[in-house]
Amino acid sequence: MMTTHCLFCRIVAGEIPAQALYEDDEILAFRDVNPQAPIHFLVIPKKHIPNLFEVDMEDAGLLGKILFTAQELAITEGMGKRGGRFVFNCKTDGGQSVDHVHLHVLGGRALAWPPG
Ligand code: 5GP
Ligand code: ZN
Repeated sequence: MMTTHCLFCRIVAGEIPAQALYEDDEILAFRDVNPQAPIHFLVIPKKHIPNLFEVDMEDAGLLGKILFTAQELAITEGMGKRGGRFVFNCKTDGGQSVDHVHLHVLGGRALAWPPG
């Protein structure tokens, strides 16, 4: 049964399959279905938070955990030497298409800057 309209909450609930890289009681990391680089995965809180503007100090530990998990997985994926990009797209100007906060981790090729 569909519990929510939020795509990433549905992935958390197991209603939509995803290629998980890491999961615990608070966060989930999974590969992006439309990768923009050889390595492209997302790290999300299981709790529904629409975007980075909606977090508060109570979420500080959760956000730290998201960043450190992203770091560990990026190293596991082979990004430790050459690096990559860690991105939160936010709201309209940020080009956010899924309104559940998610950290993009991209690597495996040189990435252009600034973004278009
Ligand atoms: P945004 O554009 O909001 O920053 O990023 C949303 C990301 O979610 C996009 O990179 C998109 O490819 C990814 N995405 C959208 N739907 C799905 C899905 O059903 N499964 C997975 N694994 N990724 C998705
Ligand atoms: Zn959600």
